[in-house]
Amino acid sequence: MGTIRQDLTDLLKERALDAKEISRILSIREKEVSAHLEHIARSTTAEGNQLKINPCQCLACGYIFKDRQRFSRPGKCPKCRHTRISRATYQIKQRS
Ligand SMILES: [Zn+2]
Repeated sequence: MGTIRQDLTDLLKERALDAKEISRILSIREKEVSAHLEHIARSTTAEGNQLKINPCQCLACGYIFKDRQRFSRPGKCPKCRHTRISRATYQIKQRS
């Protein structure tokens, strides 16, 4: 577990990734990615860095899930009820 989180932390310091890309790179299930991200969000804050979330967006109407704090994908758009929703991407912004 610790190694995966360290690898994921290193990856997110280099570039923004979504949960599907992370699951493929680290060979873990997409469902597990959210648990790791929750942990990483806390540890990066403790280090003075920030986990930046580029939120999910509805591909039908453009609605952005700005207030969504959980690391999972919403089922449908609250505005138009469409289910085609882009994945959020995550990146660690390091203290300069
Ligand atoms: Zn929508």
